[in-house]
Amino acid sequence: MNMNSTKHSLQQLLPHIEIQEAVVLAPYSTFKMGGPAELYITVHEEKDLIAAIQVAHALSLPVRVLGGASNVVISDEGINGLVIRNMCAIKSVMSETSDTVRVHISSGYSMTRLAKETAELGWSGFEHHLGLPGTLGGALYMNSKWVDPDKTYYVGDALVSAQVISPDGQVKQVDKDYFNFGYDYSILQDTRETVISAVYELQKKLPEHLVAAGKKSLAYRRATQPHGVATSGCFFKNVNGKSAGKMIDDAGLKGYRVGGAFVSDVHANFILNDGSATTNDVRELLHNVKEKIKSHYGVELEQEVDII
Ligand SMILES: Cc1cc2nc3c(=O)[nH]c(=O)nc-3n(C[C@H](O)[C@H](O)[C@H](O)COP(=O)(O)OP(=O)(O)OC[C@H]3O[C@@H](n4cnc5c(N)ncnc54)[C@H](O)[C@@H]3O)c2cc1C
Repeated sequence: MNMNSTKHSLQQLLPHIEIQEAVVLAPYSTFKMGGPAELYITVHEEKDLIAAIQVAHALSLPVRVLGGASNVVISDEGINGLVIRNMCAIKSVMSETSDTVRVHISSGYSMTRLAKETAELGWSGFEHHLGLPGTLGGALYMNSKWVDPDKTYYVGDALVSAQVISPDGQVKQVDKDYFNFGYDYSILQDTRETVISAVYELQKKLPEHLVAAGKKSLAYRRATQPHGVATSGCFFKNVNGKSAGKMIDDAGLKGYRVGGAFVSDVHANFILNDGSATTNDVRELLHNVKEKIKSHYGVELEQEVDII
């Protein structure tokens, strides 16, 4: 089937969703790089996210779900098949006790909005993630974290269960253990399942304490990370608790540049795009940083950010 007839079939099966062709993805990604999505849709409702994945499977169309596109580098060649921008953002209380509240949250919910709203409501579990770009779904995929000197807070911590859909369109309920969460890891990286929604159990605490905890994380973020720049955050995973950023800094690589891609002067694990970076620039820069760290420390850096 050629792309025109695929688009036509997709449109017939998803009549109320606007299907766009050749949408340049750079503006949607925090790294501000990326070529066109062959086909592109935005979904606002969980049922549409499910239907789009099922229909794409029936048409043998590859699918990539993106939330905030804040943990990926999208290549200049763009993405084949269907890109689904997940903007499903419903939050509703399922049940509560005097100490806890169970909340259903759609996977396209903005993490920073969630952290702010839940802190103000006096529901503890997300407050340390204030300032985390992207969506709940992307954060569960990576088990995104906030590292305090005395404790690391993971987005998976207060998860109870989730609804996920497999690439072949099977929908199932899974509990927290299913995710097999680790540092920068969840099972979704292997199964390629998409989170539709999640159920969290949050602890009731004083809103002013939660709001203050969020503000503390945000202030630390502002003080230690570059902001107002094109980046996808930390590009490398820490190695056995050893900070990748510190190793890159100590190897003298702050400011190191290949074309339009360069290592931040503020935080050495942040790679930035000056607006002109190409995929090759990023690949070469990442390769050279890895080689330098290997020769300095005998350590293989592993990427947190995928080039897709
Ligand atoms: C300035 C900056 C600061 C950051 N700070 C932190 C930080 O403190 N801690 C941290 O851990 N990370 C941090 N990050 C990285 C990033 O923001 C997080 O990993 C974020 O949770 C990614 O969410 P997203 O929606 O943007 O995912 P995307 O980039 O859209 O997607 C990332 C991956 O998840 C998959 N995915 C997206 N949605 C779903 C879904 N619903 N179900 C299953 N898979 C899905 C995508 O296909 C892709 O493979 C930072 C990034 C930036 C730019």
